Amino acid sequence: MLLCHDEAMETRDSNRSEPNTEPNTDAFSAEQGELSDLVRISLSDRKLLPIGSAPPAQRQLVPSARRIDSARGAMLGTAIGDALGRPAEGRHPAGLRGQEEAFRDFQPWGGYYSGPKGTITDDTQMTMCVAQSLLATRGRIVPEDLARRFVNWLPNGRGTGHTCVTAVNHLQMGENWWTAGVASAGNGAAMRVAPIGIALGADTTPLCHDAALSALITHADPMAVASSVGHAWLIAHLAGANATSLDPTALMNELAAAIEVIDDPGAPEREWNQRTGKTRAVITLANRVREIPALLGKPIGEAFDYLYNGAFVLETLPAALWCFFAYQDDPEEGVINAVLRGHDADTVASMAAAYFGALHGVAAFPDRWTGEDLEYQTQLLNLADQLAAI
Ligand SMILES: [Mg+2]
Repeated sequence: MLLCHDEAMETRDSNRSEPNTEPNTDAFSAEQGELSDLVRISLSDRKLLPIGSAPPAQRQLVPSARRIDSARGAMLGTAIGDALGRPAEGRHPAGLRGQEEAFRDFQPWGGYYSGPKGTITDDTQMTMCVAQSLLATRGRIVPEDLARRFVNWLPNGRGTGHTCVTAVNHLQMGENWWTAGVASAGNGAAMRVAPIGIALGADTTPLCHDAALSALITHADPMAVASSVGHAWLIAHLAGANATSLDPTALMNELAAAIEVIDDPGAPEREWNQRTGKTRAVITLANRVREIPALLGKPIGEAFDYLYNGAFVLETLPAALWCFFAYQDDPEEGVINAVLRGHDADTVASMAAAYFGALHGVAAFPDRWTGEDLEYQTQLLNLADQLAAI
């Protein structure tokens, strides 16, 4: 299976140039977000649109102040995990031993990893694309708008994944957004949808629909789309959740049900024949999510040997969920441990940190992570406030 990140061609620019994701074409109307019958049938045939309905992400109205704090936490968290994890991306955890203290802070990069400390990568860039698109199109995903933003983003893309690059190249060559996506279950679709969870938290059906649309532009794969629905649903849920009474088993069952609005046929685990105890059996993302509560008592090495933490979203989303629940009361440790396990460290840490931020708000994180050292800190806070006001 073609994966998004691990085999990626790194194309990041060492300069902190502002990514220009503004569409350079016509203005958009809400009507463009309506799918034609032809497009809907094409996407449904490929199992890329929700069927049925997910459990409500929020069962009651979330007060405005909480919505804003959760939005800020989710947006800053996305960037914090990304920036902390970037120097560990693609590395084996054994190679990071002895550097545990250094990874508690943003680090400047040299050479391949150039950029001042706090520099973010594609995870945050693409999240900003989704946020800016939502704000430009009245709080709903209009795929034409988002696709054009991805096209404008790519020249400044950092650590871009093969799937996203290929799909955007298809768009640049004139393909329609509904045919440009690649059949890949990489994590590039899930990692960018926190803004959808923020903006559409109160309305689960459009949340799932728009998370799916935002994903399939690049990832025309049911599991990738399902992961996007799951990430957005959980960000929305955590904005209204009580941190003192979070029940991992109940929540993972609900999340799995939300993921199952996409008819994911499942896939075998990656490298199953080289990993102890694995078989070629097909597993769905929802069923892997249901296994997480039983893994929470295990040491992280054992849990991650089972889940793995690469760019295959069958791995990435469960690994991020494990870090969130296993360190539920200690976000700093949860994020750092996601980073120290290497592999797709930036995306696993980014998604886990988004959960901590959505649940606890900005106060989830130490001050040294939420200040101006974090690239786009001001812009992310502004985007969060605007998304929470939708
Ligand atoms: Mg990245």
